[in-house]
Amino acid sequence: MTIAALIVAAGRGTRMGPASPGPKQYARIGGSTVLARSLGAFLDHPQVTSVTAVIHADDHALYAEAIAGLVDPDGKLTAPVVGGATRQMSVTNGLEALASRSAPPRLILVHDAARPFVDGATISRVIGALATHPFAIAAERLADTLKRESATGTVAGTLDRSGLWRAQTPQGLGLAAALPLYRKAAAEGHLDFTDDAAVAEWGGLAVALVPGNARNTKITTAEDLAMANQLLQPALEPRTGSGFDVHRFEPGDHVWLCGVKVPHTHKLEGHSDADAPLHALTDAILGALGDGDIGQHFPPSDEKWRGAASRLFVEDAARRVRERGGRITNVDITILCEAPRVGPHREAMRAAIADMLRLTIDRVGVKATTTETMGFTGRREGLAALATATVLLPV
Ligand code: MG
Repeated sequence: MTIAALIVAAGRGTRMGPASPGPKQYARIGGSTVLARSLGAFLDHPQVTSVTAVIHADDHALYAEAIAGLVDPDGKLTAPVVGGATRQMSVTNGLEALASRSAPPRLILVHDAARPFVDGATISRVIGALATHPFAIAAERLADTLKRESATGTVAGTLDRSGLWRAQTPQGLGLAAALPLYRKAAAEGHLDFTDDAAVAEWGGLAVALVPGNARNTKITTAEDLAMANQLLQPALEPRTGSGFDVHRFEPGDHVWLCGVKVPHTHKLEGHSDADAPLHALTDAILGALGDGDIGQHFPPSDEKWRGAASRLFVEDAARRVRERGGRITNVDITILCEAPRVGPHREAMRAAIADMLRLTIDRVGVKATTTETMGFTGRREGLAALATATVLLPV
């Protein structure tokens, strides 16, 4: 049995609004395009033997770009067909192209490219119904109560919704029975049927209704597209990391703390600029990723990092988060020292870290404490810093 999928993608997407960069079927969702997802659903279906898109004459370049990453191990995808002025004319062009093959397919599944969430089970149900019906469509029973509007915009009445379905695609048909109907409709000037079942109804063919899928909605507006993108967001889980660092004081006139130059009676000894809070922060982020530590990525033995601004280390850790598809939600730093005083510089420090991590300042905490003159920080031998970072990573 040969079953061809015809993916209708010739529309102009005029309902996407003026901000739309182009036809909705070429919009990107979840790292792919709407069209590629729709094509992929049929390429993946074991019963479908060929997949063909019907595209607008202006869209060859967009199409080539959209299918670039498609996985098609069985070589089912064939060259696109150019559509017509209406959906119905586009389908007619597609059916004619399939009928002109040396071995035309027996069954056709017509699918709107703008329904990227069609699932294999729905496709199977439509194919199954074609065993007993010349025509079959995926559809959903109406759940909402239907109101008729009066001339003044108020409710004129409630419609009986029993027996009402919302038509989806795929819509399946036998090529031999359906193509003459499409030809006849075109010849008689009926060019605006909004779905394939309407052509069948006009021609007197029985159309089977099979349950679709609530997710198999059509992307029509920019809002639909935003919702589709949200649906495809990977699940994220929070990861927390901690960091700790110490540097010794030596004679000098300033220290670097959280990327801010703070005047002091000493400086901090170290290979880089010895910004202990930023070193602790780098380790906290790396810890949340389970990706080693600062010494592993930036060995002190490497002359390249002598005197380096420590924001480089923080920015590298943040880059590693982005590369994993994650994001930092907040960081918190505690500086342990008797002096210098951190308070006067706190806001500058928060702003500097927010800038390094591309976070809003409310996601950055900087605090300080003394150790009540006890221990090495109490004796002013050096300064210590603690940091925590929370990162959201794809599961
Ligand atoms: Mg250090």
